[in-house]
Amino acid sequence: MKVNDVELVMSAVDPKQYPNTGYPEIGFLGRSNVGKSSLTNVLFNRRDYAHTSGQPGKTQTLNFYDVNHQLYFVDVPGYGYARVSKQEREKWAEMIETYLTQRTKLRGVVNLIDGRHEPSDYDIQMRDWLDYYNIPVLYVATKVDKLPKSKLKQQKEMLQNKLELQDNEKLVMFSAKTKVGKDEIWNWIEDKIKA
Ligand code: GDP
Repeated sequence: MKVNDVELVMSAVDPKQYPNTGYPEIGFLGRSNVGKSSLTNVLFNRRDYAHTSGQPGKTQTLNFYDVNHQLYFVDVPGYGYARVSKQEREKWAEMIETYLTQRTKLRGVVNLIDGRHEPSDYDIQMRDWLDYYNIPVLYVATKVDKLPKSKLKQQKEMLQNKLELQDNEKLVMFSAKTKVGKDEIWNWIEDKIKA
C-alpha cells in the first residue's frame, strides 16, 4: 500500500475514546525499544512520523493513526517493565486486554520481537495470551540487519521453534535499516483488512 496520508487522530485509554469511523484496524504490539516506531516509519514511508523516543514505558495510551482514510494503525504500548509499579502495570494490562478483546474492528496484530535474541519470557507470555484470545497475529523479528546473513535462516527457525509457531502463523524477519520484510508485512496487513 502506498501511504499518502497519515494522521494521529486519537490517543485513547478508555473504549469511549476509540474513534468510531469504522475503518478496519491493525494493532502493533511491542515493548519499548523493540523498533516499533522505526517499523511504522518504514511502512509509512516517512522518516520521522512515528516518534522514536527510546524512553521505556513512556507511551501509555493506544495511539490511533488514520492511514489514507482507509484503516487505522493502532500503536499498542508494551507492558511489563520492571520500572513501573505493579498498580501501573495492572492498569496497562487492563487497557490492552480491553482493547484486544472488545474491539470488533481489530483485524489482526503485528507483534514485534527483537530478532537478535531468543524470545524473552515476556515474548512467550504475549504469544500465549494472543493465542488464547484467538487474534490473528503476524510475528515480526526486528533489527535483523544486525545478524550475519549466514545466521538469518537459523535464527528464524530458532524463533519459530521457541515461539512454537504453527504452520499458519507467519514470522517475518525485518530491518528498518535495509527494509527487508517490508512488503511481506504490507501484504499480510492488506490481506487482513480486505472486506
Ligand atoms: P520503539 O521504542 O519500539 O518505537 O523503538 P525505536 O523504533 O525507537 O527503536 C529503538 C532503537 O533501535 C533506536 O535506536 C533505533 O535506531 C534502533 N532500531 C530500530 N529498528 C532498527 C533496525 O531495524 N536496525 C537497527 N540496526 N536498529 C534499529
